[in-house]
Amino acid sequence: MSSGPDAPSGARIAERARTVVPGGVNSGQRSIPGLTDLVVTGTGGARFRTADGREFTDFHAAFGPPLLGHNDPEVARAAAEAGARIGHMGVGVTEGEVQLAEQLVELIPSVEKVLLTSTGSEATFHALRVSRAATGRRLVVKFQGCYHGWHDSVSLNVISAPEKVGSHDPISTGILPEVLDATLVLPFNDSEAVRRAFAEHGHDIAAVIVEPVPHNVGALLPHQEFLTTLREETTRAGSVLVFDEVITGFRHDLGGWQSICGVTPDLTTLGKAIANGAPVGAIGGRADLMDLFSTRPGAPAFFAGTYNGHPSVVAAALATLRKLREEPVHAHVYRLGNRVRAELTALYARLGVPAVVTGHGSVFVSYFMPGPETPRTYDDLLANDASLFVGYRRKLLDHGLFELPLNLKRSHISYAHTDADVDRLLEGTEAAVKAVLA
Ligand code: PLP
Repeated sequence: MSSGPDAPSGARIAERARTVVPGGVNSGQRSIPGLTDLVVTGTGGARFRTADGREFTDFHAAFGPPLLGHNDPEVARAAAEAGARIGHMGVGVTEGEVQLAEQLVELIPSVEKVLLTSTGSEATFHALRVSRAATGRRLVVKFQGCYHGWHDSVSLNVISAPEKVGSHDPISTGILPEVLDATLVLPFNDSEAVRRAFAEHGHDIAAVIVEPVPHNVGALLPHQEFLTTLREETTRAGSVLVFDEVITGFRHDLGGWQSICGVTPDLTTLGKAIANGAPVGAIGGRADLMDLFSTRPGAPAFFAGTYNGHPSVVAAALATLRKLREEPVHAHVYRLGNRVRAELTALYARLGVPAVVTGHGSVFVSYFMPGPETPRTYDDLLANDASLFVGYRRKLLDHGLFELPLNLKRSHISYAHTDADVDRLLEGTEAAVKAVLA
């Protein structure tokens, strides 16, 4: 698309961005194939608008935060009011921070004490730091397909090419080899692999970190027995079990996946849906572990952050929690999610397209492969037809529908989506898949 004076304004702004912002966007995976000049000018509920005057019904939802829908008016009002009243002081504590901590302790089984960060990556970073501080050990275990943020210990083996599965596959250069060597990568849902790793390295494993439902590759539903094995092996070895509930927390249940599966980790990391889009993360867990964090230099685990507990963010989180507790948000998104999964499955069957539609609650994903009916391992996903997966999502853009056109990415339903939005998604998906296969 030309970027001269007559070009649509999106193209001109995107061109300016590419001149001064590396890659033209401020986070990996925001540059959208098929929509390179995407400049967002406004959002509301289930929709967003672009500088070119286009409107999309959004099933991507910013990688997951706006469970209530974009720019929820009550959340926005609460954040603005706190901003106008306090701004940000960065000393002492505000009552909002205390109220939010009290609610997280009340709602999430593993959380006895909690600290706020600005992002999920900071929360997972601190979970691993305090695990090493508590145990004096070196190794952490993560699972193929799980993403825990951008920091070095976990920046490996998320979406790996088939030939990279089973060996270290960093997502960035510039990471010290000894840092990568201190992370063991195991296959998700493979209890035997976990038992073997603990038999060999248990004495040196500080932490196991896991997305209890790996949503960073769509949705791999956990075997209950796998999560129980993680609990048993970490307890036996004296290692710390960390559930990274940055996606599953609040979205699937107010108590997180841990309250659905009944397995209580030692530490839990949170983010995204807590504040419906305001920049927040949290780490909570056993009081004895959390008490190792101190704001004093020289304490067992140092913890700090200029913007931690920012009043506007805290107010957004409190307003979000109020709505999640008082309104039938989960009932609504679960009902629409079940409808999407059932009707997409029927649609692909009618079209004769081998596909597996899976997910949980508000999260759904269509993999284009013959099976299994419920994918459980990263290896299962290697059969997905990536060109159809990305191709139909690019075609969806022509129908004003947005599911992120990148391989294996999940989609989300919010409280703001309606049955009519789901009808449009089903019609658009049929047309988009037919167009790719034509
Ligand atoms: N953990 C999980 C499970 C995530 O999905 C993400 C982000 O997508 C993170 C951690 C990192 O969160 P943030 O992007 O807020 O740093």
